[in-house]
Amino acid sequence: AAAIVVDDLTKRYGSHTAVQGVRFAVRPGVITGFVGPNGAGKSTTMRMMVGLTPPSGGRCTVLGQEYRRLHNPGCQVGVLLDASAQHSGRTGREVLTLAATVMGLEARRVDEMLDLVGLSRAEARRRTGAYSLGMRQRLGVGQALLGDPRVLILDEPANGLDPAGIHWMRGLLRDFADDGGSVLLSSHLLREIEVIADELVVIGRGRIVAQGTKQDLLAAE
Ligand code: ADP
Ligand code: ADP
Repeated sequence: AAAIVVDDLTKRYGSHTAVQGVRFAVRPGVITGFVGPNGAGKSTTMRMMVGLTPPSGGRCTVLGQEYRRLHNPGCQVGVLLDASAQHSGRTGREVLTLAATVMGLEARRVDEMLDLVGLSRAEARRRTGAYSLGMRQRLGVGQALLGDPRVLILDEPANGLDPAGIHWMRGLLRDFADDGGSVLLSSHLLREIEVIADELVVIGRGRIVAQGTKQDLLAAE
């Protein structure tokens, strides 16, 4: 069964339609890339998925339920939205420790995550306000994975990563999907998403314009 089902989602802001009749599914074992230019409606769709913005029409379920109705959603679904805006006076370690505490996880889980996402102990002692965008992305992915979720929803997680960082992320998400996880990640860069994703959902001006496997879509180009 699909882990995420987006069914005819629509979002209007006044007379402006940001998302129109969007349908797609994200299946376990697959890295699904959500790609389209800036302003196409990716973030709005993802914010509706996790209950941050109410849809004007249609619905979205995650693991068979509306996200807000999930039991302990933080542990079932790892979410990273707009890492560029996520910084504070807290250190990287404090961000993960706070999240681990909220989720009732053991403190050693924080060190496992720092190792997994490649943040050194020295970097983890620095305030996130001093982090590069790439470091914020690594920390955000670590926070999303902290509760050992079955689903990841990541908005522009490769933004700010260099090519080596993009390959690192590909490996991390590949391992997660190979263990049965479901991944949706967005990007405005086709060259970035085609490295990472198996299947693509292409959005333009709020509408799905193509979807399918990477091989199918790139062959048809
Ligand atoms: P993307 O993530 O693909 O860059 P967005 O989902 O952020 O696109 O935006 C889609 C469209 O919706 C854009 O035209 C954007 O300006 C508009 N939009 C997004 N959020 C709001 C909002 N809160 N109020 C009004 N318009 C919005
Ligand atoms: P992104 O490009 O990462 O999707 P945006 O810059 O589009 O982010 O949006 C950042 C914030 O501003 C979001 O909360 C979004 O809902 C809001 N926003 C975006 N476009 C508009 C708009 N035209 N009017 C009002 N709010 C907007």
